Parts: sequence; structure tokens; C-alpha cells
Amino acid sequence: MADLSLNTRCVQAGYTPGNGEPRQIPIYQSTTFKYDTSEDMGKLFDLEAEGYFYSRLANPTCDMVAAKIASLEGGAAAMLTGSGQAANFMALFNICEAGSHIVSSSSIYGGTFNLMDVTMRKMGVDVTFVSPDCTEEELNAAFRENTKVVFGESIANPALTVLDIEKFAKAAHAHGVPLMVDNTFPTPINLRPIEWGADLVTHSTTKYMDGHGAALGGVIVDGGHFDWMAHADKFPGLCTPDESYHGVNYAERFGKEGAFINKCTAQLMRDLGCVQSPQNAFILNLGLESLHVRMPRHVENGQAVAEFLEAHDKVEYVNYPGLKSNRYYEVAQKYMPNGGCGVVSFEIKGGREAAERFMKQLKVAAIETHVADARTCCLNPATSTHRQMTDEQLKAAGVPAGLVRISCGLEDKKDLIEDLRQALEAV
Ligand SMILES: *Cc1c(COP(=O)(O)O)cnc(C)c1O
Repeated sequence: MADLSLNTRCVQAGYTPGNGEPRQIPIYQSTTFKYDTSEDMGKLFDLEAEGYFYSRLANPTCDMVAAKIASLEGGAAAMLTGSGQAANFMALFNICEAGSHIVSSSSIYGGTFNLMDVTMRKMGVDVTFVSPDCTEEELNAAFRENTKVVFGESIANPALTVLDIEKFAKAAHAHGVPLMVDNTFPTPINLRPIEWGADLVTHSTTKYMDGHGAALGGVIVDGGHFDWMAHADKFPGLCTPDESYHGVNYAERFGKEGAFINKCTAQLMRDLGCVQSPQNAFILNLGLESLHVRMPRHVENGQAVAEFLEAHDKVEYVNYPGLKSNRYYEVAQKYMPNGGCGVVSFEIKGGREAAERFMKQLKVAAIETHVADARTCCLNPATSTHRQMTDEQLKAAGVPAGLVRISCGLEDKKDLIEDLRQALEAV
């Protein structure tokens, strides 16, 4: 499959039916798997034979879909998780433990920020947040002896900052640690971070990959390039025997290509159990089959809506990396020449009241706390997710009261613009 184009892999990678087998990926709706002898099953437990025994550790439907995403990202191995939050937590915790330290971009999804800043701190994992726009000196200064990983989002949700992946990869590798990139917004159709030096890629598949607002999910992809054994002192979990799993040394047994995902499955999924159900994996795969067709339309609609809003006199400013006026335009062009995503944010003149009136008038776009769906949706943080904050607090947080985030779906851009025009007129 690797020699086929990305478009073809979206449709066909991960599953090739044999003669007379189902054309569509079968849903293995089974918690457990049957064996003729205990010896057969014992080999699976010892990781000596490949196969399935319990769906908390692995399920064939989930593995087929994970293999498709690994192929799209140019990775060596992948695993599905129950949500994007689970993907980021498990990927970080696979190489961090009490006493470890993370360097992370400060411009990331709120849920991931809390995960690191609150929950992982309680587990004894420290984090230093750096601006995605920091200089190389500032970035290098954030590292410590106990730093295990660098984290960032390719296009941040919701700030829409664009990560300079090469800059972050260079600093990570100079300090002997991997770069992990949450690539949810561009998807591998528009950006493949591993090609630019990232080692690990995560996604909330809940967003564009599913694309229909139907199934929560996440995925972890390992590029298979990071040499854990060369930094064995930093990564004892991968490079010394796992006494909780028959003394397996993941880096020795599975090499660069397989160590990370095998440990994350055998140890963390066993203990934490945040699996994706085979039903959800099946739904995710339906989304993936058209990802390469949908993403260009999301980008086309996002660009058209951003340009319309930028020219409108009731709009204070528009934030979209595809606009020449955007501070990330150059870096976005470098990493995503075909565009990034369909999410646009803008500030409407007149603050909270104007935003509320504007949103009430919308007929095509719906009010939702969601993004990256086939149906256009929008959100005013000041009257919803951030409603406990005053106008001054909102301004300080970079979320002015009149800010509206709009996730452009797959509708006709003429209808989307007409909807925005009539709603702006009513303000
Ligand atoms: C939504 C999102 C998440 C969390 O994903 P869930 O599937 O909602 O758990 C993580 N990262 C980014 C960039 C997101 O947009």
C-alpha cells in the first residue's frame, strides 16, 4: 500500500479481503477469542505469537483502522483509543512517569492543557509551556535533565496557531527526546508531521477523521524512527525488562518500529482500558474512506468564509492561517501548501451582545461545542464555554467577548456566506 497515493490509501489501506471475504471491514463484535489449547493462548500472552485474546488489549477491527491511519501518516505502527484525550494521555504517559518533565507549546487544546497542567502534575509529571513563536534559544532553555518529550499541535484548537515542526523537532532531538504532534486539525491529508521530523503523532479522530459528528475516538501513531536504545537511560520503560509483562524489553524485542505501540498496548491499555469500540472504529473507517475528498472542501469553504468576513465592516478581525494578513501565513504555506482546515475565528464589533444576536440569526450554521463536522457549526465562547468570565478576563485570555469560532462544513460556500451576510446585517 505504501507506494499507492494518499487518496487510494484513504479508501483501501488497512484491510485487504481474501477470496470470498466481506468487502467492507468486518466488525469483530466480540470481547474474547477462542483457542484450542492453553498453550496456544499462552504464546499470545508472552507476545510470542500474533493474535487476539481480549478486546481490551486489541481487536481486529480496531487494528485494521489503526493500520490505515498509520499508512496515511507514514508511520510504522498505530493504535486506536476511546477519545483524543485518551490518545494524548496514553502517548505521553507511555514515556513519562513521576519525576519526568514535558516541554509543551502553550497554544494547545484546553483539554490537553488541563491534562498536563493539572492532572499529570498530580501524577508527579512536570510541564513547561513555551510559546509556539519562541526563539530557538528560548525553546532550548525550557529543557531539563528529566525532560522526556516535546509536545505541540500542528494547527492549534482553537487559537489556530501553526507549529514550526522543524524548529520543535530540532530542539527535541538535540536533547535526545521525541517530538509528539497532535495533528487533529490538518489531518494527514494536509500535513504529515513525521515527514518534517516529528516522531509521534496523535489525533482526536472525533473531528475530521470521523467527520460526521458520530463517534468519539483517538489514535496514536509512531513514526518508528526514534532510537530509544540510543537514549536508554531516559526511557527505562522501553529499554529495560517490564516485570509486569513477563520481563519483556520492548525496544529489544520490537525495535524502533514496534517498541512504543507494543508497550502502550501491552502495558497501558491493559491497565487503563480506554479502548475504542469496534463499532466506533467501523464508523471512523467510513469517515476515513472519504477524508481525501472532504478535506479540500473544508479548506475551500474555510478560505471563502475567512475572505468574506475579512472584507466585512462589522468584523474587527479574522484569524485564519490561509489569509495573507495572518501571522502564520508563511509557515502555513510551508507545511500545508494545500491549506489547513475549515475552522475560522473572528471578532464581531459590539462584543458579547452583538455576537449573541448574530448567532441567533444564523440559519445554516448551528450553535454547538464541536468542530470539524460535515455540518457547519459555530460557538461564541463568551456566552457558552467561557460564560463565567468577565469581558476584561476574556480579553486577557485572548478570547474577546465578540469572538466567534466557526467550523465550516461541507455545504455550498455560497449558502454559508449568504447565511453569515444576513446574520451580520441583523446586528
Ligand atoms: C478535540 C480535541 C482533542 C480531544 O479529543 P476528544 O476526542 O474530544 O477527546 C484533543 N486535541 C485536539 C487538537 C482536539 O481538537
